[in-house]
Amino acid sequence: MGGPQKKRVLVVGAGAAGMSCAHHLAQHPEKFDVTLIEATNYCGGQAFSIAIDKDKHGASWLNQGVQGGSYIFHHTMTMFARQGFAANSVKLQVSFGKGAQFWTNVYPTKLLERHQTEIKRFVKMLSIIRWFEIIFALLPIKLLMKLFWFSYEFANTVALPMVALFLGTGNYTPDVPAIILERLCTSPTYGMWYPPDKKSIANNLPPMVVFPNFSKFYETWHQDLVSKGIKVRLSTELTQIITRGKQGVIVKTIKRSPSDKHNPSSAWAPEDPTLNSDASAKEETEHYDEIVLCCQTDTSLRLLGKTSSFLERKILSSVKFSNDITITHTDASYMRKHYEPFFNPLQAASSLDTDSRITHAKTNFNPMYFIKPYPSDLTKLEMCFDCTNYQAQFPPDIPFENHVFQTIFLNKERDGHLWTDKEIDPQKIIRKDWWHQLCHSWTHYAFVVPWVWLLQGGRKHTRFAGSWTVINAHEVAVMSGIAAAVDLGADYPQDLEKESGWALLCFRLYYLLVYGKWYRKRVDKGGKGMGEWESGLYGSLYKGPGVVEEERRMWRDEQEVEWKLRKRNWGMDEPRL
Ligand SMILES: Cc1cc2nc3c(=O)[nH]c(=O)nc-3n(C[C@H](O)[C@H](O)[C@H](O)COP(=O)(O)OP(=O)(O)OC[C@H]3O[C@@H](n4cnc5c(N)ncnc54)[C@H](O)[C@@H]3O)c2cc1C
Repeated sequence: MGGPQKKRVLVVGAGAAGMSCAHHLAQHPEKFDVTLIEATNYCGGQAFSIAIDKDKHGASWLNQGVQGGSYIFHHTMTMFARQGFAANSVKLQVSFGKGAQFWTNVYPTKLLERHQTEIKRFVKMLSIIRWFEIIFALLPIKLLMKLFWFSYEFANTVALPMVALFLGTGNYTPDVPAIILERLCTSPTYGMWYPPDKKSIANNLPPMVVFPNFSKFYETWHQDLVSKGIKVRLSTELTQIITRGKQGVIVKTIKRSPSDKHNPSSAWAPEDPTLNSDASAKEETEHYDEIVLCCQTDTSLRLLGKTSSFLERKILSSVKFSNDITITHTDASYMRKHYEPFFNPLQAASSLDTDSRITHAKTNFNPMYFIKPYPSDLTKLEMCFDCTNYQAQFPPDIPFENHVFQTIFLNKERDGHLWTDKEIDPQKIIRKDWWHQLCHSWTHYAFVVPWVWLLQGGRKHTRFAGSWTVINAHEVAVMSGIAAAVDLGADYPQDLEKESGWALLCFRLYYLLVYGKWYRKRVDKGGKGMGEWESGLYGSLYKGPGVVEEERRMWRDEQEVEWKLRKRNWGMDEPRL
């Protein structure tokens, strides 16, 4: 008779977490029979692209929402490389505030001149927190600012945007734990504001990566999973979990009508009859051995229903979300009115300009990331991207009037009264997208993150994955999917393990935190010469920042050399952007 029975695994949600989980389970067709279901009609979840008018904007597509990340996103970049895609490099320019409250990392401004004593104190404070990290770790930034006597203006116009930008936490930034602010400024590997400057606080242009066309990438990945035997069912929603126990997991699913990309309304707003267009669709009962929930926690709780345990209810319900909207538009007048998109000679502070940054900025100030603290309440923010300056597919020198912007209005329920969304010219709006965003408040790190490991696996045959398990970033989502697969018995990627660098370290720490287990290396260490892993794009060949102790380098520049060599030697194609 046949060999040992395969485990039937249901992966719920084809975002970065679900795709990564299915991908790694797919490497073991002898062990797993995998079904991946997704409520919407595409893979990628929050990460997707939209079409735009190339004649007008210079590019035919735009990544909607999710823009880019850090060089240390090894798992994400490895997944890109596996499908023949690559991220691109960018040196991040920011523009925070407006007029007298404007500052940037490109050149020093009057705001920074006014707060010289506080900037010095800020740098001192960072070394104090570094020394006593254990004490400060969970302290909300708003209390930290009070503890060190920072002014209202400095705390909200200088310090908060530095963190808000990194986490996209928007209006929960005052509640973010102090350790995140400290690490952003003091960590040589992932600190985007490292090293802090005693005069202008942040004077570096953080090297970042911008993501390739997400819709193409995820569709290619989808096809790859199908070719590896994964049953990918789009427009299929898990409606409830009936039982979990010795017999495995019994669930109900329904087929949904393909809807507009994104906005999976009935997945998290089933009670709204206007959105839940498939309310009368017939449910099917299905039986699996294991389930991996790769969706938001409030959805998971709803799906678990009566089968949820006390701990699941307690931990999952402690995750806070806010409802935000991104308006994608081309309203250059709105941008001029609310932000500083151009070099502003009136605000340039020559007293702080030790290395001619002002002269350089006159012709090279092209900000990508904007934050506007609301003048009537500086603790609340609006965020914005100039996608034309930010995303790599746009050519330079597109007239400002044709730039594509994304303005994000945060936390409708609490802060909707501050929004200026009505000022955006409706004729210039390309589209609107609602997000159900994770809030990185200190409570998340006190009541959720340290306890998730208690929920994983066991007799309930349930695992939880998704970026909410630590930080709302694509890389965390990918790692969470890999971790769920590894916990089920799949292998961690050989090339990343062999690299033994940052990727493996991050994964091990993630696995320890979220599963309470230390991942032991599985690849045998012996063998000389070129192993299969060594040809991996981000395997041992990747020596970018986060791996080597030297100065940060632009890995894309190195890669270009690398790809030319590969093309010449092996006739390989360049990765797609
Ligand atoms: C506006 C915005 C900007 C961002 N910018 C960045 C950035 O620049 N860099 C970065 O690294 N990260 C960014 N992020 C965060 C990043 O996009 C997310 O962390 C990551 O994509 C989340 O992946 P996930 O798999 O955890 O969840 P999701 O992508 O949300 O995937 C969950 C999937 O589950 C599906 N689902 C839900 N319920 C059901 C159900 N009942 N049945 C079946 N399927 C279901 C959903 O439809 C969805 O596809 C941003 C996020 C937003 C919203």
